Amino acid sequence: MADSETYQGDQGMVQRRPASPAPADLWSTLKKALFIIGSTTIVFVALRNSLTYHLQHFWGASGDFWQHQWDKILRTVGDDPFTLLVFGTTLVSYVVYWIVGLMYTAMDVTGRPAMLKQYKIQPGTNEPVESWKLAKCIFWVNFNQIFVGIPFSTACFYLLRLRGWDESPQLPTFQWVIFELVVCIMMEEIGFYYSHRLFHHRMLYKHFHKMHHEWQSPISITAIYAHPLEHAFSNMMPAFLGPLVLGSHVATIWLWVSLALLSTLNAHSGYHLPFFPSPEAHDFHHLKFNQCYGVLGVLDLLHGTDDKFRASKCFSRHLMMLSLVPPRDAYPDHLPKGKVICGKQCYDQTSEDSHKSFSTEDTKLLKCRLLSERKFSYCTARPLHCRMMALKYEKPIFGSMT
Ligand SMILES: [Zn+2]
Ligand SMILES: [Zn+2]
Repeated sequence: MADSETYQGDQGMVQRRPASPAPADLWSTLKKALFIIGSTTIVFVALRNSLTYHLQHFWGASGDFWQHQWDKILRTVGDDPFTLLVFGTTLVSYVVYWIVGLMYTAMDVTGRPAMLKQYKIQPGTNEPVESWKLAKCIFWVNFNQIFVGIPFSTACFYLLRLRGWDESPQLPTFQWVIFELVVCIMMEEIGFYYSHRLFHHRMLYKHFHKMHHEWQSPISITAIYAHPLEHAFSNMMPAFLGPLVLGSHVATIWLWVSLALLSTLNAHSGYHLPFFPSPEAHDFHHLKFNQCYGVLGVLDLLHGTDDKFRASKCFSRHLMMLSLVPPRDAYPDHLPKGKVICGKQCYDQTSEDSHKSFSTEDTKLLKCRLLSERKFSYCTARPLHCRMMALKYEKPIFGSMT
């Protein structure tokens, strides 16, 4: 990777992409993808376990808590598989989408809480949101949810019937649900990447996908603001691929659809909030149009459709923030010329132009200058460590050093 980096003055580090992605790049992207899947699973398992414990403890529910809840749903709405799949999935999606989406929208419309403004990915945009644009978005999202969602789910119902699916009143085991979710995530990445890229073809873009890209700086509820045909093929189809292949239980489908919606609402929110998965990649897609088509980023790396993203500042911010420091402060657009860290002055790409390159045999080593001796030496700290030190003492100084 060291060879692919060149000092570009104040323009920042530009990575020259090799013809095919370097294995190290692929590995780090896969690691990120696995991290997202892994951390989501851990959070999900922890939530499920603690929820079960507390609900059983305080409400005195007996036996298998979740099976008990499912039985209640079946007693209330009946066990007709068509109703559960078509109307149940539509209702669950609708409720999840609007509860979370309207919370983000309230932030955009009122500008409160004001402290959240520092987490905006594109500051100054949608402050406030134009009312007519918002109204148009709300109309089309509702249209898609009802007039595309219900017929599409109906088609899925008959496809599932053809394939054979889990219609049992018994919930699947927890381990099986986790396995199904992982498969669904992978199918979504494949289905969404290729269908989305297809909609960027110049023959299709102007007729369909242009509508979704009216929002160069998206807000949460623009997640499914799209041409109805695109909504069916590029939003719903990839999400239903996993359940169709696996013949999933309807409860798993409800859970999966809710998680997928939460993910896309976050990806379009325009806010990179602490402890949330990074929405930088899809926000960059809306800003630049021809970058970052996928969800996890694995296929973008394989196809080289994230080269500009990787060379941008946004890429250095493309991680889950584990502190309250806003990503734009942690990885600023214009880096200071060097800050004191552990008694050393480290130089990055914006430092004096005599130091054209600081790559070594290992890009994880940074060339630093000892303050006292005014000479060069190699800082053996890994970038991540440096960043953490920098956060402790000063604003961080490193750019895209992952
Ligand atoms: Zn989008
Ligand atoms: Zn697009």
